[in-house]
Amino acid sequence: MTHPTVLILLGPPGAGKGTQARMLEEKFGLVQLSTGDLLRAAVAAGTKAGKAAKAVMEAGELVSDAIVLAILKDRLTEPDTAKGVILDGFPRTPGQAEALDALLAEQDLKISAAVSIEVDDAAMVERVSGRYTCGSCGEGYHDSFKQPVNAGTCDKCGSTEFKRRADDNAETVGARLTAYHAQTAPLIAYYETRGVLRTVDGMSAIETIAADLDAVVTQVSA
Ligand code: AMP
Repeated sequence: MTHPTVLILLGPPGAGKGTQARMLEEKFGLVQLSTGDLLRAAVAAGTKAGKAAKAVMEAGELVSDAIVLAILKDRLTEPDTAKGVILDGFPRTPGQAEALDALLAEQDLKISAAVSIEVDDAAMVERVSGRYTCGSCGEGYHDSFKQPVNAGTCDKCGSTEFKRRADDNAETVGARLTAYHAQTAPLIAYYETRGVLRTVDGMSAIETIAADLDAVVTQVSA
């Protein structure tokens, strides 16, 4: 039996983790687990965790490991994750990385690859501040780089509802980049030491990055 793929996407806000995870989901039948999406859902639902996380997220800081781990563990018990997962935005601290190792070991699983999507910080503020998504299917768009072909209508599903994240503004992006460098970037060395680190150039075209990631996933799931 082949082992389920466990792919980690590392990179600052705006690196393209979500976009690429969605493409990998479609191509390989893996499930994207975005702790940001899970937390935003908890905030919208007004759960206890969501109430605790809301202000922290709006400030661009990191939510506590305890909350994030509880939400992630819960999601991992759902059966659709059996074939494999793409972790998007998790782990984000050394504590989360160690907790993930322990969680995977319990289930006799291991990390297939941790891919660092490398980008220039300076470009990230513009990338993140201009982005928005279809409110129905989640397709991503950008004010300067990718508008729908027919203005106001999603290319993918035809919906006319779009949404922007509350934390995708220039001020909060600065705090999110700082949090990334202080707390998440050290994980690059952590995974290098474990022999699972891969890097891709996140400044390339979306399709080029997708091809690079396809090659990694194809190799590690062989
Ligand atoms: P993202 O959608 O990954 O950009 O995450 C949005 C926000 O959710 C972050 O700025 C954090 O406040 C919070 N968040 C998401 N994932 C994590 C995580 N693994 N650990 C701590 N906070 C997180």
